[in-house]
Amino acid sequence: MKMLKPFLLLCSILFIISCRKEVAPEQSAVSESTQSRVNPEHLQAAWLLGFDTVGARYLNDGLLVGGDVLMDKQYLENLLKAYKASSANERHAHTANLVTGNNTNITVSLQDNLINTYSVVLALQGALSHLNAVSDCRLNFMYASNDANADIKIYRSYDFNSYAYAFWPTGNGQPGSKVYFNLDLANGRTQGQNILLFVHEIGHCLGLRHADWDNIGEPVAAYDDDWTYGGATYIPGTPTYDASSVMNHDIGILGLSWSSFSTYDIVALRYLYPLETGTVFESYINGPVNISQAGQHNHSNGAAYSCGNYEWRLLNASAQVIYDFWDEECGGLEWSNILSPGTYYLEARLKNTEAPGVWYSKAVNVQ
Ligand SMILES: [Zn+2]
Repeated sequence: MKMLKPFLLLCSILFIISCRKEVAPEQSAVSESTQSRVNPEHLQAAWLLGFDTVGARYLNDGLLVGGDVLMDKQYLENLLKAYKASSANERHAHTANLVTGNNTNITVSLQDNLINTYSVVLALQGALSHLNAVSDCRLNFMYASNDANADIKIYRSYDFNSYAYAFWPTGNGQPGSKVYFNLDLANGRTQGQNILLFVHEIGHCLGLRHADWDNIGEPVAAYDDDWTYGGATYIPGTPTYDASSVMNHDIGILGLSWSSFSTYDIVALRYLYPLETGTVFESYINGPVNISQAGQHNHSNGAAYSCGNYEWRLLNASAQVIYDFWDEECGGLEWSNILSPGTYYLEARLKNTEAPGVWYSKAVNVQ
């Protein structure tokens, strides 16, 4: 075991390599049990110094990393304090391209059979629910099962250098269209960790840079893996350092779980995507297209809002309403009607949301 001298530690900070992706597993696999014992700030300082934090633990008054390097806790705290102070003029930023108009009605789907892993479905739905809970903001997210035409498609990644990575908006007014998610790594993580990961990646698809992008040396002229230009414009009203932002680069590295947006995450989302005159909230219906004449049918509303904000109805092929489901269903609709074979339209809309809801229609074939 050796005690690394402060001089060497200061030198080693020069070799920090920033990484656009969320994690490198060898840097990030801080187990839940380890995480609960070690102060995250100590881990963060050690990571800033370029140390592998896997298995980090306290020994006497120091943090033991890499099996044989002991760093004084007070030194780590001072280092992190100085690091934050040096970032005095840095804050949240957004990319040059953003999502425009009612393209902020965003469907999100799971590709590559990710839909078969229920914990992933729940994590994504949880993330969309938290995003939809931001009030005074026109973002409206809808879970769209495995729809290949969804606005944001989440693919399976086999890149073991990151838990997940995402793409920025390209300038066509739509959100960045892809997120890559490593299922193998996700399986070792908690639901809360995966929810935070999805919120973070979708944040990138909306044009959010890392909240601490400047601190970690990410350039303004950054590019995603499709060579889409990032750019970085400061977001007014956000602070010099936002320790609890969901958009900090190290949420994966530190093994953080979903807790809430920071105050300034919400400032950023409302600044970029405020409610405007004419804002409408769309819906999306998940469930089977072909249904039997009798029996129970299950469809669900893809936009995850609080219970009581949905309205459902059934139309015939002539677009006449033949049934009104008076009860506002809590996201899902279980229904059974004896219908003649043919085509019908099941429709749903959001009610009592911050902006008007419009009917969304799904054709169903009764066989
Ligand atoms: Zn990120």
